[in-house]
Amino acid sequence: MRKKIIAGNWKMNKTDVEAAPFARDLKVKTLNIRNTEIVICPPFTALSAVYDILKDSKIKIGAQNVHWELSGAFTGEISAKMIDKAGCRYVIIGHSERRQYFGETNQIVNKKIKQTLTTCLEPIVCIGETLRQRQDGHTQEFVKTQIIEGLEGLSFDQIQRLVLAYEPVWAIGTGVTATPGQAQEVHLFIRELIQEIFNSQIAGSIHILYGGSVKPDNIRDLLTQKDIDGGLIGGASLKIDSFVEMIRITEELSN
Ligand code: PEP
Repeated sequence: MRKKIIAGNWKMNKTDVEAAPFARDLKVKTLNIRNTEIVICPPFTALSAVYDILKDSKIKIGAQNVHWELSGAFTGEISAKMIDKAGCRYVIIGHSERRQYFGETNQIVNKKIKQTLTTCLEPIVCIGETLRQRQDGHTQEFVKTQIIEGLEGLSFDQIQRLVLAYEPVWAIGTGVTATPGQAQEVHLFIRELIQEIFNSQIAGSIHILYGGSVKPDNIRDLLTQKDIDGGLIGGASLKIDSFVEMIRITEELSN
């Protein structure tokens, strides 16, 4: 059975001073969690404060973005090496907000994944269709292109270090969640596509998270779907009580 992952994407929220008490609380409140991988993705400026608190715990830290070069004249950018050395295990790549507001294409996502994989980091690669694409019946075709172009040229070894996150754009931050059936349908499609491109062993072991208005009151129904291996959670990861509650429910499902 694939271990479930609960990852909180804080987006542009929380200073280092605000992040520290959250990390301390999270550490204490999840001491009894054994079978769920817990990840928080604070903004860059809070990474070191959070790492200092969590370095001796099982909670993993992720960054929310990365540049495709390891160093150089790229003012304002952060490299995979820097993120790795800051104590992170994961980095989110290709979040829909980066695609939408910062022009990230599948080709940029591909370069970022490849550079990230030269370090010890594991990319959490986001894909998902817009409302228009869903309404026009183009969900699978669009997600397929994102996967084929985004993962182009990755070796079998490299793909095994990736986590995928299916996040329908129309469900992110809107309060509208995909129904468990809608999410499962796309997750299965993605897993079958990974089988086609790579092989069945990789398809069976790769983690595919769901993201889009996941909350304590809908997470159980989503995570009981066969091909949903956890959640990438924005808004509901910012409050300690709701985040811990979702971790607790996930752990219950894994026992
Ligand atoms: C996200 O940021 O990846 C996300 C899914 O946000 P929310 O949970 O707020 O919809």
